[in-house]
Amino acid sequence: MTMIGLEIHCQLTNLQSKLFCTCKANYREFKINENICPVCIGLPGSLPRLNQEAVKKATMIAMALNCSTPEKIAFFRKNYFYPDSPKNFQITQLNIYGDTSVGGTGSIMVGDKKIRITRIQLEEDPGRLIYEGSSSKNQITLVDYNRAGTPLVEIVTEPDFENPKQVRDFLNILSDLLANLGVADPSLEGAMRADANVSIKGGKKVEIKNIGSFHDLEKAVHFEITRQESLHSRDIGIIQETRHWDDQRKITVSSRSKEEELDYRYFLEGDIPWIRIDSDIHQKLKSEMPESISSKKERYISKYNIPAQVADVLSSDKFYSDMFEKAHTESNAKEVANIITTDLMGLVDTREKRIASKLTFTHLKELADSIQSGKVSRSSSKNALHEILKTGKDLSAIITEFDLGNVSDESELSEIITHVISEESQAVEQAKSNPQTINYLVGKVMQKTKGKADPTLTLNLLKKHIGIS
Ligand SMILES: [Zn+2]
Repeated sequence: MTMIGLEIHCQLTNLQSKLFCTCKANYREFKINENICPVCIGLPGSLPRLNQEAVKKATMIAMALNCSTPEKIAFFRKNYFYPDSPKNFQITQLNIYGDTSVGGTGSIMVGDKKIRITRIQLEEDPGRLIYEGSSSKNQITLVDYNRAGTPLVEIVTEPDFENPKQVRDFLNILSDLLANLGVADPSLEGAMRADANVSIKGGKKVEIKNIGSFHDLEKAVHFEITRQESLHSRDIGIIQETRHWDDQRKITVSSRSKEEELDYRYFLEGDIPWIRIDSDIHQKLKSEMPESISSKKERYISKYNIPAQVADVLSSDKFYSDMFEKAHTESNAKEVANIITTDLMGLVDTREKRIASKLTFTHLKELADSIQSGKVSRSSSKNALHEILKTGKDLSAIITEFDLGNVSDESELSEIITHVISEESQAVEQAKSNPQTINYLVGKVMQKTKGKADPTLTLNLLKKHIGIS
């Protein structure tokens, strides 16, 4: 049996400041080594001050993953020398004196499979190394400390995954959950990174480090299973080792042997006191948590009668569910959901497109209302949506500019219908004996009006002209 466990590092990208100083958590907007201070570059005499908001957000993540949340949390020093860590230690958490990390054991369902969470810890991200030239032959490595000290939540799972697909499904659920909580934007480059450990039956555990994106994580796990199975089939032993993911060649490569936990000389961080999070605070945090994805889905189904599949897609993505929440009314909810899931999703399927989009919830509301009132047809509404995304113009201006309005003038439609009736005498006779076949004639009127005839009015007029009820 294949066993896969994950260690996922999620940056709390929505926070204002770093974990122990007032430098910005959003280090991406700075020039190299401009987002630093004595604390985050570890100058002697500087003292860390814990970002309370980071503790709250990390606790919320623990709660959302059904983890236990201890009353007291502590921070530890993990000592190691590496250029990306200016202090020569990382402030992190460790369950050595009981459960003192922000989250203890928990679990989450991935389809029918229960994935157990071992712990959740809050820690600081190291800086970034920049290699000059090609990575294998480079002579110079530069260090950017802008990222050093940004808040990171590490989620450790038990080795409960059996295949790469379960890994991918879990990652999708997790990134939706983090976005829904409003604690992180998982689509930001480097916001989600992971290590994985993989072992096949009869083999040793191999750890894969440094996987820079969720997309690559699935690939890395897949590669590693194939590699180990190939060795096993040739009776070659699988050694316990640490491997790195080479994202250029898309393979795992053996790296230096992993330091034992003891080598880190963990000890309590004396500059940060133990933090008490009593049940009142836990209760308050629980009440501040946004509605869960599953609860949103249930509400969309039961309150608005939205089909389960549509509700599922709509609720799991925060961008779309936020749009829906603001744009819908009691009467247009189904139509708004329909526009989002059938038209909008295909048009704004990347982070860049979402940022560039000029669409507001007011546009979306007007669009749904206009479809419902017969002002525009569904097919014309797609064209209008396209134009709104690009220009952000008012729907009414776009309808006029591109002549997208429905033909709802009775005399104009009657004239077209008279033509259709004279051209389609056979279909008219058929409709008289079998009223359901009238849809064929509705289709003909639509053709002549390029899809812009008001469908309800067309049907009523056709019936009147043919003389059926
Ligand atoms: Zn700083």
